[in-house]
Amino acid sequence: MALDLEEDVSTQPAKGKQDIVTGAISVAAILMFVGTGSSVLSTTLQHYFEGGAPADRTLVIALLLNVALILFGWRRHSALSQEVRIRTAAEERAQQLASRDPLTGFLNRRSLAEEGAAMFVRAHRRRKAMALIMLDLDHFKTINDMHGHAVGDALLRAVAVEIAQAMPPIALQARLGGDEFSCGFLFDPQQPDTVERIAERLVARMAQPFEAEGLHLHISCSLGIARSDFDCASIDALMRSADIAMYQAKKSGRNRYAWFDQSMERELQVRNELESGLRMAIPRQEIVPYFEQQVDLQTGRLHGFEVLARWEHPTRGLISPDLFIPIAEETGMIADLSLSIMRQSFIAARDWDPSLSLSINISPWQLRDAWLAQKIIKVLTETGFPANRLEIEITESSLFDNLALAQSIVGSLKNQGARLALDDFGTGYSSLAHLRALPFDRIKIDKSFVMSLNENADSAAIVKAIAGLGESLNLPVTAEGVEDAAIEERLRALGIAKSQGWYYGKPLSVTGVRRMLAERRLLQQPQASGPLTVEIVEPVAGELPEAATNQRLAG
Ligand code: C2E
Ligand code: CA
Ligand code: CA
Repeated sequence: MALDLEEDVSTQPAKGKQDIVTGAISVAAILMFVGTGSSVLSTTLQHYFEGGAPADRTLVIALLLNVALILFGWRRHSALSQEVRIRTAAEERAQQLASRDPLTGFLNRRSLAEEGAAMFVRAHRRRKAMALIMLDLDHFKTINDMHGHAVGDALLRAVAVEIAQAMPPIALQARLGGDEFSCGFLFDPQQPDTVERIAERLVARMAQPFEAEGLHLHISCSLGIARSDFDCASIDALMRSADIAMYQAKKSGRNRYAWFDQSMERELQVRNELESGLRMAIPRQEIVPYFEQQVDLQTGRLHGFEVLARWEHPTRGLISPDLFIPIAEETGMIADLSLSIMRQSFIAARDWDPSLSLSINISPWQLRDAWLAQKIIKVLTETGFPANRLEIEITESSLFDNLALAQSIVGSLKNQGARLALDDFGTGYSSLAHLRALPFDRIKIDKSFVMSLNENADSAAIVKAIAGLGESLNLPVTAEGVEDAAIEERLRALGIAKSQGWYYGKPLSVTGVRRMLAERRLLQQPQASGPLTVEIVEPVAGELPEAATNQRLAG
């Protein structure tokens, strides 16, 4: 399209010259017609009706030529008008395509920036404020994946209609791409509640079911709002602030709106620092495994450990996985991080008592990787850790994305002898269907219920219900978050199989675990050299046992 226009533009001067010549000839013809036509016509009429002298032949020919020229000019004029109309329509369409989103007819990102800049200036001039809303649909990808792109597109169009209806009369409405929309409008700076009412209306409307292609679709949206009169020097800053606020709304649970404030900016800065630090921390093996004891409740025997990632940051100290796992997930680093944690813990556990198992957390993001099982099996093989000592912990949310893929990954791992646990049960959906979707070997009750077991009747009821469910499905249950003897006792009475928590000690580093296992005589004797002692835990170079050597080498 752009090329067609360019071609039109390049042929314009020649055509312009032709048009001027045509116009001049037509005007001359009309003038000659006016000048000669009347005398020739009157002489000719006289000749026929009154028998006067005939008109001068030359003049008649000139007159006929005039008529021909005028007809030619008229035709050319019509052709030109038609061409101008077509060209104007094409230009308008090109303009439309360049500035509008073809699916919804809303502005696109570029034209929002342009028109938003004008509105930003207008707001300032009129002593008003400009509100910019960023709207992102929650879990739109799931709908696209489940029902296909035609349904996804129909849903986006329906959403656009709802947005347009919720906006004040003069508002900018844009689709920035995917399921991301943005709107801008002016408001009285003294009355931000007018903006809030619009945001509330949008959130409420999006939470109602939509009809698209004969389906009833359930979605919700997250909104971020920024205002031009608060710390936003330009439309770009305003859009960025609204975007940051939108991510905050998502983080706080979606289906809501959030105003931008400066603390979000600082949080983002910290996040960005963590992200760039994480990129280097994984290959440097600063992300290390810590081990939380899992105890057999009936016998009191140590059964194994849950592996928990920790970032041993060179300047900030120990960083919690709650801070860096979400970043690793969003940035696609989780796969490398997880495999590194596995490799380190399998190497560390090589000379532990063979009865001790390792439970590894697998993020829902990893279950989108068709090669995950092969990658894990490769690490098992390379480190010599037997698959039957490995338990994989996944949460219910892992089952939403691509159940067939999750089933195939889990199938491959179980074929090798690994076991599967459903983590954090009781939060989220806690559905029986999910429990049946994969061949789970164990349910883990979320720590929030266990920790409040003795103070909160609801928690007690949930723990009891999950214990009953485990019994009827023949699935052993692990309770996490056991902080004192009273909770442990209550869980034992409920028939819970395993427990873990700070009552048994905080998660330990590789060094800490080795010390503890050595004390309990749960370290295997090395084949060649003498018995392992506690001193080996902090080894001196040159006197390393095999496991510690491997750790060093891996580092
Ligand atoms: P999670 O899998 O539910 O792990 C249990 C969390 O509860 C751990 O927090 C553990 O330290 C904490 N906890 C255990 N017992 C107690 C207790 O008695 N009281 C209290 N207050 N807390 C207790 P942590 O280590 O901070 O891990 C948080 C979450 O980070 C984990 O929750 C897991 O979802 C994720 N995570 C940790 N390591 C990894 C990893 O290697 N990969 C993945 N994908 N996620 C990980
Ligand atoms: Ca876990
Ligand atoms: Ca858990």
